[in-house]
Amino acid sequence: MDLKKLASRLIPDEDLPSLADCERAYPPRDLPEGAEVTRLAPSPTGFIHLGNLYSALADERAAHTTGGVFYLRIEDTDEKRKVEGAVESVIRSLDYFGLRFDEGAEIDGENAYGPYYQRRRAQIYRAFAKDLLERGLAYPCFCTEDELNETRRVQTENKEITGYYGKYAKCRGLSEEQIYKNLDAGMPFVIRLKSQGDVSVKHSFRDAIKGSITVTENDQDVVILKSDGIPTYHFAHAIDDHFMRTTLVIRGEEWLSSLPIHIELFKVLGFPLPRYGHTCSLMKVDGGTKRKLSKRKDPELSLDFYRAAGYYPAAVIKYLMTILNSNFEEWSAKNPEKDYTQFPFSGTTMCKSVALCDLDKLNDVSRDELAKLSPEETYVFLRTWADEFGTDADKKHFADKDYMISVLALVTGAGQKKRRKDIVRAEQGVRLVDYFFDDTFAPEYDFRSEKQAVRAMLTGFAAIYDANDGNAEWFEKLKLAAGKAGFATDNASYKASPESFSGSVSDAAEAVRIAVTGSPNSPDLCTIMRILGAERSLARMARAAESLQ
Ligand code: GLU
Repeated sequence: MDLKKLASRLIPDEDLPSLADCERAYPPRDLPEGAEVTRLAPSPTGFIHLGNLYSALADERAAHTTGGVFYLRIEDTDEKRKVEGAVESVIRSLDYFGLRFDEGAEIDGENAYGPYYQRRRAQIYRAFAKDLLERGLAYPCFCTEDELNETRRVQTENKEITGYYGKYAKCRGLSEEQIYKNLDAGMPFVIRLKSQGDVSVKHSFRDAIKGSITVTENDQDVVILKSDGIPTYHFAHAIDDHFMRTTLVIRGEEWLSSLPIHIELFKVLGFPLPRYGHTCSLMKVDGGTKRKLSKRKDPELSLDFYRAAGYYPAAVIKYLMTILNSNFEEWSAKNPEKDYTQFPFSGTTMCKSVALCDLDKLNDVSRDELAKLSPEETYVFLRTWADEFGTDADKKHFADKDYMISVLALVTGAGQKKRRKDIVRAEQGVRLVDYFFDDTFAPEYDFRSEKQAVRAMLTGFAAIYDANDGNAEWFEKLKLAAGKAGFATDNASYKASPESFSGSVSDAAEAVRIAVTGSPNSPDLCTIMRILGAERSLARMARAAESLQ
């Protein structure tokens, strides 16, 4: 068969680059020894989720801990499944979580290895497909969708591996005459790899994350160019990873089953194989068993969930690092002041089998991370959330910056011996300070002491309260009012005969706390009253006392 002639008939383009042109246009990168070139290569067919962020973090760390390059390539070969806005969502999400690309789609500056949208690289893929045709390593296939479905049905019925291989590869052995007859008849065709592999041969393969695994040779004649002349993911990624000079491909373990195909494609294309590392799937415990996180059942798989709930981005990353690397948590505990970027990242310590997600764990990490922020930083974080997701009232509260910062200084315990860790995420943090504002102060009083005594305590204390008092004077006055209202003024006398009193001095303080904040738990009450101001504090005590009439 005249393969050159056939290749030109199937791919008639005259302006294709030569293979040597491509090698020259995308030369090996000039990077230090050991530097990794990694990529995030999303298909814009849906929105990026926690699993993608997890792999992206591994890619980013692998590149940036070795002085390498982390780039973004958009695998947009599937036009039918394209989702508007998906590329922007990837870029915005990674930016939100602080992961930075060095080059790639939509990144300004020197983009020497681009274009980074696969649709814009069609000529390169066609040049290589043509070369495979000329070398007899690819062939046209005219099978229709119906024929392929029928083959699959037979294979499934016979409990055989499905696909286009061996005796099922009907077009693999077409005669030259038949091929031209089909072409002359205008029959649509795809180009398939003419696999040289043998499934009875197994090789051991070193996965950069999972370690030694066994890989069976590929014998599937996979499609490399679809009928519209656009490549499949398998073919395009091999060519791109070669010419973008990727050294390490980190991707989800759902791609492990395609690895044999990829190994063969690199081989027939004459490219050295990059290293591959397959990350494990994100799982969660559900009703005593572990299962994969699912789009349908688990809102926490979506990255928007974390933004909307106001998780602190650095906390989500730190939490992912904990799942990703078995030794990160210990390192982090030993180096509390260090940033995750200082962690000596290595693929070999990455999780190999089950990456277990747990929101309680994330909440703990988040609480700790937020407790490191200054009141000003906390303000910026909460305000950013409120601007996008908050109510009108929230936005109004944040407009009074000085007042809010004094509230946050108290609520976070910044500058005090022991930091409070009450804020877990922005949404909850914003709700936590609602009681400092009259428009959102909606107490449901639940006084535990006897009504009359509480009323007497509130009116008595209101009468002598002075916002200029320091903590000690404030407490003296509180005790004075407590005594007059029938509460014990010291613990010893209360303990000696509790029945003689309406309650202890802490019960009296609790009554004031509930009146002023709506809750029996709060930071330092004297400071709260000072921040609220005398007028507002007294009005709240009066309102509570009235409710007890
Ligand atoms: N485009 C593929 C995806 O979105 C990328 C797989 C890979 O990283 O090689 O899943």
